[in-house]
Amino acid sequence: MIHQKQEHTSSYYAATANDVTDYPVLQGSHSADVCVVGAGFTGVATALTLAERGYSVALIEANRVGWGASGRNGGQLINGISGLSRILKKHGTGIADMVWDLRWRGNNIIRDRVEKYAIDCDLKDGYVEVATKPRQIADIEYSAAERKRHNFPYRYETWDRDKTREMLGTDAFHGGFICYRDGHLHPLNLCVGEARAAHELGARVFEQSPVIGIAHGDRPTVKTASGFVQADAVVLAGNAYSELEPGHLSNLVFPAGSYIIGTEPLADEMVSEINPLDVAVCDLNNVVDYYRLSADKRLLYGGACNYSGRDPASITAFIRPRMLKIYPQLKDVRIDYEWGGKVGIVLNRIPAVGRINKNVYYCQGYSGHGVCATHVMGEVMADALAGTMERFDLFADMKHFRIPGSQWLGNQIIALGMLYYKMKDML
Ligand SMILES: Cc1cc2nc3c(=O)[nH]c(=O)nc-3n(C[C@H](O)[C@H](O)[C@H](O)COP(=O)(O)OP(=O)(O)OC[C@H]3O[C@@H](n4cnc5c(N)ncnc54)[C@H](O)[C@@H]3O)c2cc1C
Repeated sequence: MIHQKQEHTSSYYAATANDVTDYPVLQGSHSADVCVVGAGFTGVATALTLAERGYSVALIEANRVGWGASGRNGGQLINGISGLSRILKKHGTGIADMVWDLRWRGNNIIRDRVEKYAIDCDLKDGYVEVATKPRQIADIEYSAAERKRHNFPYRYETWDRDKTREMLGTDAFHGGFICYRDGHLHPLNLCVGEARAAHELGARVFEQSPVIGIAHGDRPTVKTASGFVQADAVVLAGNAYSELEPGHLSNLVFPAGSYIIGTEPLADEMVSEINPLDVAVCDLNNVVDYYRLSADKRLLYGGACNYSGRDPASITAFIRPRMLKIYPQLKDVRIDYEWGGKVGIVLNRIPAVGRINKNVYYCQGYSGHGVCATHVMGEVMADALAGTMERFDLFADMKHFRIPGSQWLGNQIIALGMLYYKMKDML
């Protein structure tokens, strides 16, 4: 079978990547301690953590490092892992401190790595959650109270309507909550930089090498069209783009489209009007809109998860009206970029984590909230491979539901389900 080479999507990130990666195609036979499949944040973070700990690692990517959601996302660095509150509910308050640490661990890992490996990814502090309805003010107050209770050592503030208008140049929001430990960054440059760090520590990275199957056994064999890797353990990190191991993993995670547009660079006066603090912004709805400025002061505006399986005919026509609802003053601004990607949604919102035949691990489904979460899970997977299962088991023990047919795009049941959430947001 001949693989049709796929390069990055036509995003702002691909156009401004620091490096165009060109790792070799996997050919012939290889042996490693661990073989990781998929070089998005989950796969790269797992490979880098393992390489830092002295494991021999092979990282195999179907396309390019960061080709999937990791190289296309909103770049919002948001604490937490979706579904943690359910894990806490199941296991009780005895694990409350561990769950609080899990919430912030991804942020710490990313910040440490950016510094340690000198990764140039436009990292900025500050992320605001905004209330589009008065009832969401309670969520903002909860966020502040929670940090107070934990003696959170980093800066945060609640904003009333006037302050939010002053800081974000729009009357669309009833209030906001800003946390300066969160922030935003260029996700493709982070992913490529971390892969480079793993490679420099000895991890073998392969691109344009889709994995076509796994032969299970004491040392499973991961096969591509032109080679294979035999390893003590395998980590599957293909998330919403993976079709591997259908007997175990089908319908656990379903793909939903999320879309972003990038404006031309904005004039300084416009930047001072709409985002003088240069922070990331996301609303508090179930189906979120999110935006931030790029390093060269474009507005990158995203949202509108699409569960029907069909990409919009024009992403700009789909997203631009949402942007103009918040910022009518951008009506004459040119749109230079538009792109989309697949978010891996799990019905109960808890990442689907587990093992097949004891030595093939999987970790997927961050429900649109994965920049930090993937980095925590990379560490959780590396710990599990070394036999420390405490945090792995928190996730692996959770029950998941499957909707038949949901992993394939075009599922109308899912579309209907999500219409329910959109209607809830509208109320
Ligand atoms: C448009 C968009 C906006 C988003 N915005 C945000 C945001 O602002 N903040 C946030 O926290 N999260 C956001 N997310 C979610 C976040 O990007 C994801 O949760 C995260 O990147 C998932 O990383 P991953 O490594 O698990 O998956 P991916 O990044 O999708 O990587 C999976 C990789 O596996 C490869 N692969 C699949 N199958 C195979 C195979 N058979 N062989 C080899 N390789 C294979 C794919 O090619 C792909 O590169 C957004 C997602 C999208 C799509």
